[in-house]
Amino acid sequence: MVLSRQREPLELRDLPVPEPAAGQVRLRVLACGVCRTDLHIVDGELTRPKLPLVPGHQIVGVADDGRRLGVPWLGWTDGTCRYCTSGRENLCDEARFTGYDLDGGYAEYAVADERFCFSIPEGYPDLQAAPLLCAGLIGYRSLRFAGDAERLGLYGFGASAHIVAQVARDQGRRLFGFVRPGDDAARTFALELGCEWVGASNEKPPEELDAAIVFAPAGELVPAALAALAKGGTVVCAGIHMTDIPSFPYELLWGERGVRSVANLTRRDGEEFLALAPRVPVRTEVETYALEDANEALGRLRRGEIRGAAVLRL
Ligand SMILES: [Zn+2]
Ligand SMILES: [Zn+2]
Repeated sequence: MVLSRQREPLELRDLPVPEPAAGQVRLRVLACGVCRTDLHIVDGELTRPKLPLVPGHQIVGVADDGRRLGVPWLGWTDGTCRYCTSGRENLCDEARFTGYDLDGGYAEYAVADERFCFSIPEGYPDLQAAPLLCAGLIGYRSLRFAGDAERLGLYGFGASAHIVAQVARDQGRRLFGFVRPGDDAARTFALELGCEWVGASNEKPPEELDAAIVFAPAGELVPAALAALAKGGTVVCAGIHMTDIPSFPYELLWGERGVRSVANLTRRDGEEFLALAPRVPVRTEVETYALEDANEALGRLRRGEIRGAAVLRL
């Protein structure tokens, strides 16, 4: 499925089977998760994709030699810059991203730099493994930036929150979920995943929060989350794109509250999270779509209709 121009639907096309360059593996794609970032690329909110582009950065595939591998968003880094040499390859200026700078997994075959691929934990079927590769990884990195917060708010109950909630409960944290006003399906889902309270995103929780993770790409949630924090708490913005954050009184930040973003992932995040997931164990809930129905999956994601994560099945 190919994006030729932003703000237009993907097109089903026959492409040659890609040849791996030196250091790359070729994968027959088994499953590819659909991420909100894919939607930001299609909708033009991320402005510099390679075009034409095969999107998709949560690839589970089988290599020519039979290994089952996962390909995440971070597809290549220079390995030499100030960021790469200090354990922060997620911030590399020269980084190339799967399904953005490089063709991704909305296809029958993909190639990927072997150094950036992960082994998929045994026991995870292909479809259930795919959302671990971005929703899970970025969620895990976001949770790390929430520190040792006991009372954790989750704003937006999509693919990432449904995984983070399971890890956070396993760590003994108390969860407070925030969903769009009137979204009863999301509310029920958040309660099933262990939130002790679920309210609308503009509501105050019954207790102050020690941290909040904002998954929804809505800037107005940042001051709302700040207003729900105890002193010293942090708002972690987990998405790659967000609408503008409205101005807010300094009083909301005062008391050593903080706001920070989370960008991309490091390979270390991947190794840690993929080792942790089967121990929790994280169970992903997926809606599956045929490759040619990728536009329908993106449409449902855009409208907030997906329960858990959407995954293309090859
Ligand atoms: Zn670098
Ligand atoms: Zn993603």
